[in-house]
Amino acid sequence: MGTTVEILLWAPNSQRASELFETAFAEIDYVDATLSNYKANSEVSRLNATAVREAVTVDPEVFGLLKRALEYSRITGGAFDITVGPLVKAWGFFGGTGRLPPSRALARARSQSGWSLVLLDPEDRTVRFRREGVELDLGAIGKGWALDRAADALRRLGVSAALLGVGESSYYAIGAPPGLNGWQVNVTDPADTNRVLATVLLRDGSLSTSGATQQFFEIDGRRYSHIIDPRTGSPVEGMEQVTVTAVEATDSDALSTALFVLGPDSASVLLSGGPNRGALFVREARAGPRIVAVEWPGGR
Ligand code: FAD
Repeated sequence: MGTTVEILLWAPNSQRASELFETAFAEIDYVDATLSNYKANSEVSRLNATAVREAVTVDPEVFGLLKRALEYSRITGGAFDITVGPLVKAWGFFGGTGRLPPSRALARARSQSGWSLVLLDPEDRTVRFRREGVELDLGAIGKGWALDRAADALRRLGVSAALLGVGESSYYAIGAPPGLNGWQVNVTDPADTNRVLATVLLRDGSLSTSGATQQFFEIDGRRYSHIIDPRTGSPVEGMEQVTVTAVEATDSDALSTALFVLGPDSASVLLSGGPNRGALFVREARAGPRIVAVEWPGGR
């Protein structure tokens, strides 16, 4: 997935631990092979290539994920949108560090994006695109889904204490290390990663961070991040980092991107959609407080 996955787990012996690691990493590999638009033969690449010409049948679990992603588009008014693919490419963030797009390319990309361009047929389990050039990009939800799947697989094999992390941006915790109440996960300041902003004790829950400090470019003091507001077609400005807690990593991953676009004022409504949800925002200190916590565990 273009990043690193780390798993810590308790097992009765090292042979069992190796078997468990194999199982968990097989799930991560499945998600990479299925959802990656960096791999020409993945299911998502197949969809991107053919779903404008014909309705394409997909795996039930992938269908479920697409449904969930489109539901996030609906409840965020399009701030979260997996059809952001053409915009990500126009702004040079697909396998690159970004650039200002020519206005015609940007206009074309905008016309090829929009979640209502994706038609899901639950009866036949098919996906169809309404317009040439539509491209799904599951970069904002795929890593969370991979963590949930790997954690489910470990639970089914009896694991009661594990911490799974992907790219230091999403974590899922099963139970707690023996004798402790949970797994400590730190949220650091994007301006100084030695400074811990908050420590969360995760237990059967997840935490995801979306940030503008790793994938971005700057022109004339303006920072353009890889998170795009699909409603304007341009990168979000003024936000540095958003961290979200939720029960499932699929949700925390999607919500951290959605709230990066929407900002703290929209947080309460989205966070009320499930248990144990909270958000910690770090904004450019231009207007108002730099750090804003909404329903954040333990407060701040
Ligand atoms: P997040 O906030 O979680 O997601 C941001 C990403 O979501 C953006 O990069 C964009 O792709 C998309 N996005 C932007 N705006 C929106 C929006 N408003 N709504 C919805 N989505 C949006 N990268 C590589 O370099 N090489 C690879 O081989 C590779 N393979 C991958 C395979 C898979 C299955 C996945 C899920 C990702 C892969 N990536 C790869 C992508 C890479 O890991 C991304 O940088 C990452 O997904 C972005 O995650 P994040 O936590 O930084 O940001």
